[in-house]
Amino acid sequence: MSAYKLLLLLYDLAKPFHFVVSLILTASPQTILRVALPTPLRRFFDYLPPKDASLQSYEPGMRVLVPFGKRSLVGIITETVSHSTIDNSKLKPIKRLLDTEPTITRNILSLCLWAIQYYHHSPGDVFQNALPLALRNEDTNALEFVTTWQATTKGQLICLTQLSRAPKQVEALNVLRDHPNGLTQTVLSGLNIKPTALTALKGKGLANTHKQLNDYPSWAKESPLKESPLPLNNEQQQATDSIIKKVNCVLTPFLLEGVTGSGKTEVYLQAIEQCLREGKQALILVPEIGLTPQTMHRFQQRFNAPVLAIHSNLTANQRLNAWRQGKAGSAAIIIGTRSALFTPMLNPGIIIVDEEHDLSYKQQDGFRYSARDMAIVRAKIENIPIVLGTATPSFESLHNAHNGRYQHLKLTRRAGGAKLPTFQIADLRKAKLNNGLCETLIDSIEHELKHDNQILFFINRRGYSPVLMCHDCGWNASCVMCDARMTYHRQPAHLHCHHCDFQNRIPHHCPECNSSDLRAIGQGTERIDENLSNLFPKTRIIRIDRDTTRKKQALENQLKQVNSGHPCILIGTQMLAKGHHFPHVTLVVIADIDSGLFASDFRATEHTAQLILQVAGRAGREEKKGKVVLQSHNPEHPVLQSLVHQNYNTFCQYAMPERKLTGLPPFGHIAIFRAEATHANIALQFLESLVEQFNLNNTSSAEAWGPVPALMLRKAGRFRYQVMLRSNERAALHQAITALIPQIEMHPNNRKVRWHLDIDPVHID
Ligand code: ADP
Ligand code: ZN
Ligand code: ZN
Repeated sequence: MSAYKLLLLLYDLAKPFHFVVSLILTASPQTILRVALPTPLRRFFDYLPPKDASLQSYEPGMRVLVPFGKRSLVGIITETVSHSTIDNSKLKPIKRLLDTEPTITRNILSLCLWAIQYYHHSPGDVFQNALPLALRNEDTNALEFVTTWQATTKGQLICLTQLSRAPKQVEALNVLRDHPNGLTQTVLSGLNIKPTALTALKGKGLANTHKQLNDYPSWAKESPLKESPLPLNNEQQQATDSIIKKVNCVLTPFLLEGVTGSGKTEVYLQAIEQCLREGKQALILVPEIGLTPQTMHRFQQRFNAPVLAIHSNLTANQRLNAWRQGKAGSAAIIIGTRSALFTPMLNPGIIIVDEEHDLSYKQQDGFRYSARDMAIVRAKIENIPIVLGTATPSFESLHNAHNGRYQHLKLTRRAGGAKLPTFQIADLRKAKLNNGLCETLIDSIEHELKHDNQILFFINRRGYSPVLMCHDCGWNASCVMCDARMTYHRQPAHLHCHHCDFQNRIPHHCPECNSSDLRAIGQGTERIDENLSNLFPKTRIIRIDRDTTRKKQALENQLKQVNSGHPCILIGTQMLAKGHHFPHVTLVVIADIDSGLFASDFRATEHTAQLILQVAGRAGREEKKGKVVLQSHNPEHPVLQSLVHQNYNTFCQYAMPERKLTGLPPFGHIAIFRAEATHANIALQFLESLVEQFNLNNTSSAEAWGPVPALMLRKAGRFRYQVMLRSNERAALHQAITALIPQIEMHPNNRKVRWHLDIDPVHID
């Protein structure tokens, strides 16, 4: 069965779970509340309504405060039932109902219930991910109330001459008399009314405060445009038409495959414009926080409608505010990273997942969901169109497009006349290096600088060098907690393990042979920065990596400098690969591509190809033609050859069949159980008994591979092993897992190992 059909089937399977969502039950003695609680347990908990509150109505999605052992927890009602598997006399009443209407809206509830089944994860944790932090607390209300000031009856009737010695109060009372429905503090401040005057009126019984529900402003759907849209080229027009015309009622997801710079954003903008005209909201997911300000700006420039950002850098209050405005329907456009997927919308109109291939859509800890895959499910639940946009589709999405489960829209040319960049492989074999660069590359850089252009130097490794080695005995600095080398940093000087964050001083002498000849081997961003400064002392060099962007606004300021257009060399990691539009960059250098070609992860070449094309896509995006130089010791490698001489499509034709042969995604389906413990044997034996149990169950066509040690066996002091489960049928895989989980949870060593399950993993390490 196909991946997408199965998503839908699973959604159907989950339906009995949420058939009750529309049912409003008034508490009767038989009403039992089924609640998701923030615990790691994979189950729901039954409670009774409190004895004295028979008139309250309980709806799925409402929050309740319940006793749990000695603690009180905030939980979510997922359904109301009349029978519990536990004897009613043993059920406890909840302490309090926290909401008057569901905090988790009906569709988000369905989405979460789907995820609980599909990811085999604890219900409480799924809902924790779906709620803004503030709402996980019993004292915060999902609805926003504001305080308004009104004149009392006495205040309405009093003769103002009685207040003549307090002109400020007269002024305030006059304003309040004119607005019998009340005014908020903010509006009053705007009218220059001082809080002291209001408090004084309150003291005299002339004014009073009330709490009322905040009315968010709405937007003018008749005229959502602030600037006129660009005239679309043919391909863009076709894509936009397909998205907005909605010919049939079964909405097929769209895969918008457009080469870098082909104007995908313009397609999004015009599809969203249509949506706003219908008074509907748009949700746009982007992979990185770094991209939100830039994307926000483009949307704000285009539309006369509120654009809100949701990402992990917001304060709890800002996040709550954005969530409330989504739910109230006043946020027309919501742009955010992974977790923005859970923002409720009053009038949802479209979902867009930009750079759909990006790995950051998969959460890598706790609730390991894919925001892209869940966005597909959400669009289905909401019955709205969804667009997955990218220049380099994930094999999963391509496969879905090839099978007709997604509608494939293509933009094959750059918009506005810019040309795609040309490629060149710089052969590093036997090349003479000057400051780590070969002569041809130095010449190319010089040439671009002479023409006042910008250069982007991409290297996916921060720090000075990945290895610090003793030249006399071969010792190298490794982490005491991991099977990994420490990265040598110069600014500030220290050794740093990028896997567990362990830090250490730099030794003056080799701890093995006492030699003082310690050498930095290999290159990181700091070293490239130093080398380029040596070679081009007069050129401004801007380094963008995690170390130089820690401070707030640092990244924005650096990007501003780049976009000012002055000639410069930009050095950057992964952070720069995505989505950025650098109009003045004409040369892109990819310093070290070889590590990606030979990694053990079966997706390594796919990810490397995507990375190369994404980084390359930063070159020559406007009038000036772009060029990309790849430095490699393996210039003949078929991945490089197909990308350089053909395109992504050719590369896929080369790489996909291999996946089919091995039954790996997107042709087969996989899940990984990972386990780690302070003693290797405990983790290993735990997984061995998991496999044994799996073979005993032997109920399906799924197969278990392993256990095998993780690539880095020891990390942060723990030994790590893994088992991969695989099947050609997604349903079979999930059946096997469903049978296995309770058995693992009963395992005597369950508490001695840390284990987790990763459905549709994107990294195999
Ligand atoms: P992508 O997201 O596909 O990489 P962008 O949407 O960033 O590409 O577009 C690249 C550039 O092309 C932008 O400067 C954009 O303003 C311009 N552009 C997009 N569509 C058109 C068009 N129809 N006519 C002219 N320029 C366009
Ligand atoms: Zn030594
Ligand atoms: Zn470490």
